Amino acid sequence: MKGQRSVSILGATGSVGETTCALLAEAPDCFRVEALTGNHNVSGMVRLARRLRPAFVAMADDQAAKSVRHALSDLPVHVAGGEGAVLEAAQRPADWIMAAIVGAAGLAPTLAAAAQGTTVALANKESLVCAGHLMTAAIKKGGGRLLPVDSEHNAIFQVFDQAQRDTIDRIILTASGGPFRTASLDAMRAATPAAALRHPNWDMGAKITIDSATMFNKGLELIEAGHLFDMCEDRIEVVVHPQSIVHSLVAYKDGSILAQMGLPDMRTPVAVTLYWPDRADCASDRLDLTRMGDLTFEAPDQERFPALALARAAMRSGGTAPAVLNAANEVAVQAFLAEEIGFLDIAAIVETCLERMPVEPLDELSTLWEVDRTVRKMARSVIELSPKPVSYARAAG
Ligand code: NAD
Ligand code: MG
Repeated sequence: MKGQRSVSILGATGSVGETTCALLAEAPDCFRVEALTGNHNVSGMVRLARRLRPAFVAMADDQAAKSVRHALSDLPVHVAGGEGAVLEAAQRPADWIMAAIVGAAGLAPTLAAAAQGTTVALANKESLVCAGHLMTAAIKKGGGRLLPVDSEHNAIFQVFDQAQRDTIDRIILTASGGPFRTASLDAMRAATPAAALRHPNWDMGAKITIDSATMFNKGLELIEAGHLFDMCEDRIEVVVHPQSIVHSLVAYKDGSILAQMGLPDMRTPVAVTLYWPDRADCASDRLDLTRMGDLTFEAPDQERFPALALARAAMRSGGTAPAVLNAANEVAVQAFLAEEIGFLDIAAIVETCLERMPVEPLDELSTLWEVDRTVRKMARSVIELSPKPVSYARAAG
């Protein structure tokens, strides 16, 4: 890689953020850190800032910003707090910006990063799901580029022949199937947050781990793939691949299928975007083909995982429908983690919100925020009317 790149990490204290920071710390000559952002995690941010020496640190939470400022008072770093500070971090000029805030909270900062016409490494899939057209327009207008970090999209990006798009038949997203791949519906109905948080292959933040268990993660990824690769819903297939070695595939019209493989380790997709168009040296452990055992593929079970059909329907509807799906899911996942609803209620709540919300065109950000607010309220009211899960009621009694 030529010269030193300036980089910023939005959501530095999270799972993807930490992985990114670890790669940066291993190559201090290649990267200079402009800004890091976090939310509440003071000790995590202080540790990262001491290691990476950023010029600017933003904490979405004001109180946390005060504590970080105090703890870093011996360093030449500017620490600011609040949503505005996170936006400022995204607006500060940098050659490469990692967008790894979780949920719709990441949308405004990611759009701000896109507007500065730089390379945006996108982990925050929710922002593309909610406002895909606005995001791709912002990237185009700014003159920068979006590089996908999500392992499936990163895999497709590596094997997708952009110069000969018309030779491509379809793309195939792989899904691990999560912790309930073989569980019965009854077992899923009684599943606790602790069980849903035990992902068999990947170590990730809580929200995406629950999304993997419901398969809303794959639903969000379908919509994400549609925007990233300009593909309609019926040209994106989903297959369950429990070993998480084949990260996704592109099927060509001549019958060839190209796959990207690797260990389930986010260091690789993050490194692909960080060093692009070059390649990093030894970003992750080697995959030993002779020891990895069988690779299997199966069709997803639509009955136990209704999230996929809901996402496909929202994608076909377009407009505000994907934003409705996303907001309802964010609220339902939080309620499930707080033990207010059962595991299967997550998809039921999303379905109810999709049924009740009329689909509108989405041409402006203000429409999106309005819909997001309305759906969050609606989902909360559905939750309040839902009976508490039987298993928790029994445990409490
Ligand atoms: P995480 O929960 O571990 O981290 C989230 C980050 O966002 C933290 O730094 C947190 O401080 C920040 N944050 C949360 N709420 C915020 C708010 N209101 N304002 C500002 N910052 C806020 O999440 P993660 O697992 O790292 O996932 C991040 C994103 O990457 C998600 O969109 C997820 O779907 C996507 N992703 C993650 C993985 C993975 O391996 N973890 C893989 C693919 C895609
Ligand atoms: Mg993924």
